[in-house]
Amino acid sequence: MNYYAKPVARLIDQLSRLPGIGPKTAQRLAFHILNAPPEVAINLAKAVAEARSTVRYCPVCGNYTDEAPCLICRDERRSRDLLCVVERPRDVVAMEKSRSFKGLYHVLHGAISPMEGVGPEHLRIRELLKRLESGGVKEVILATNPNVEGDATALYLAGLIKPLAVSVTRIAHGLPVGADLEYADGVTLGKALEGRREMK
Ligand SMILES: [Zn+2]
Repeated sequence: MNYYAKPVARLIDQLSRLPGIGPKTAQRLAFHILNAPPEVAINLAKAVAEARSTVRYCPVCGNYTDEAPCLICRDERRSRDLLCVVERPRDVVAMEKSRSFKGLYHVLHGAISPMEGVGPEHLRIRELLKRLESGGVKEVILATNPNVEGDATALYLAGLIKPLAVSVTRIAHGLPVGADLEYADGVTLGKALEGRREMK
């Protein structure tokens, strides 16, 4: 039996495809959109379409941006000799919120995971090495997540970066093991960054 008019069912279906949105929440959101003034729905649709069509990966760091290079890469006040390597754009947000890092970033877009079929060739590692080869970077901070995949990725990267005579450090494990950078509070992340150690 179909409880919903077709367009309503379609809206609920699309919403329920989003992460963390179950069928009940999807229904609640759909009814909210239908109940609100028309501009609420129009503005939402416009924001989604515009973000999707204008936002790209920064050609330098790989973070989301609508300008190339991104605001962080262009910021002259940031140290250009310090590079923080993270897995995802959301990790850049977490680091920025911690306010304890004033260098530049490199986003890998994942971590090495043989279980999920993700190898080094699927990550932005070539781009990272190119950046380092062009000089200027003195220290690379490996801030991949403190879990099996993140640690494996950090170890793999350290092996590639050391021959380039660049210092390689790993953020301290003040972070809960197995956790995501994203969920660490600013103070914990700041401490993890402060306590980073040279990778041997
Ligand atoms: Zn950038």
